[in-house]
Formats: sequence, structure tokens, C-alpha cells
Amino acid sequence: MLNIIPIPAFKDNYIWLLHNQRHAVAVDPGDAAPLRAWLDAHNIRLAAILCTHHHADHSGGICELAEVYNVPACGPRHEDIPCVSHAVGEGDVIQVKELDIMLDVIDIPGHTRGHVAYLFSLPGMDGVFCGDTLFGCGCGRLFEGTPVQLLHSLQRLAHLPDNTQVYCAHEYTEANIRFALACEPGNPQLAQRQADAHALRAGGRPTLPSAIGLEKATNPFLRCTQPAIVQAAQRHGAAKSSDELAVFTALREWKNHFG
Ligand SMILES: [Zn+2]
Repeated sequence: MLNIIPIPAFKDNYIWLLHNQRHAVAVDPGDAAPLRAWLDAHNIRLAAILCTHHHADHSGGICELAEVYNVPACGPRHEDIPCVSHAVGEGDVIQVKELDIMLDVIDIPGHTRGHVAYLFSLPGMDGVFCGDTLFGCGCGRLFEGTPVQLLHSLQRLAHLPDNTQVYCAHEYTEANIRFALACEPGNPQLAQRQADAHALRAGGRPTLPSAIGLEKATNPFLRCTQPAIVQAAQRHGAAKSSDELAVFTALREWKNHFG
């Protein structure tokens, strides 16, 4: 039986941990300290590290963890990340024997040039660790890639089965929902999502994982062909265009400056 839990780090990061009570895989350990504390407290041993992209809040703990636990660290082959022992990319399969699990790697550039995601299937459940590419009701900023790359990466994630669980690396959902409501105020599922997210946060709980179906129903960056979203984008820089890429680009730019 595998469990997947978030270890909070920094202000709003989640280090996702898959574990079977004996061994664990850590995803995007930006800080070793909270992870080591949790592993020690539960007497669970780290078996492997997965990293989605090079930003320090996702990779800063890798060297310490790799040394302390003497474990492999996988990271994107198109990025240079200290202490990554296994460079991975599109089409690679990672086997973690201690957890009896396989993860598929896909390239999802845009937030960074070499960003990857890790997909897995458990009995009755699919999931994806998507780093800073897809967030609850939002998407990552364009730091290194182009809008067309990020849009394509998001579309690939959107084509996963609707019940795929989405393990984002930040708790940004409530702020993203406020932006989504500015884009699409008449979406009833969005209003429901805002109420649900608020209740979870008020109870001190994460809004994640999300699910691909929920994202497709509420995330404006996955809804760039919806008439309400097109009209909102046209009011914010997309001019008269209804082209999906133009709409996406305008939304991403608008979100950068959204209150
Ligand atoms: Zn990042």
C-alpha cells in the first residue's frame, strides 16, 4: 500500500513523498530539513529523489539527502542540477524497487527549459508530479520557455485521464481561483471550487492533489478556447484574436500583474 503525502517546505512549497511505511521517494526536495525530520520521526528510509526542474526551492535539498541516504537522484537531462545522478527525459522509465513502482518521464518545458513530469499508475489510481507547470487552477510562470512550449506542455497534461491526481509543488490554488473567477465569473464549478478550497485551507489542509478533470473544468489556462475566456483575454491584450495561443499568452501576461 502506497501513501502519498505533502511535506510543507518554505512558505508554500510541497515536497511530495510516496512511501510504503518502510521506504519513500521524495519529489522536489528544495529543503532537506523538513523531509529528514519527517523520515526520522516515522522511521522510514529514503529510496530515491525525483526533481522536476532546477529552481532552488525544488532542488536545494538534493545534495544533502543524496549524501545522507546514499540514494539516486533523478532530474531533467536538459538542466544542470547539482548532485543529480540520473539525468532523465521524455520516454524514460524509472523503477523504484523498494516501492515496487515505475514512473514514466515526460518533458514539459515552458516554466524552465528542461522541466519534466513524472507519471505513475497504482491500482485504481493514476498520478502526476508536475512541479511548477500545472498548478491548482493555474500554471507556472514563463521563466525560460516560450508560450507555445508551455501551452503544449499543459495540453499534454490535460490529455491524461480525468481522474489522474495532480501533485503540484505549490499551494497557490486560492489565489489562482481568484484570477480564474476574473476570467470566467459565470463558471459554477469554479464557484464551487472556491468554496471547497477555502474550507480546506481554513481547516489547515492542502488543496492538493487536484485532478485533471477538475482542472479542465476550472483552470483558465486549460480553457483558452472557451468563449468567456477568449473574451476576457481580448480585454487584456489579445486584441481581437481568438487563437488559442494568443489567448493563452494574454492570460499568462495578465496573471503576472493580477492583484
Ligand atoms: Zn520553479
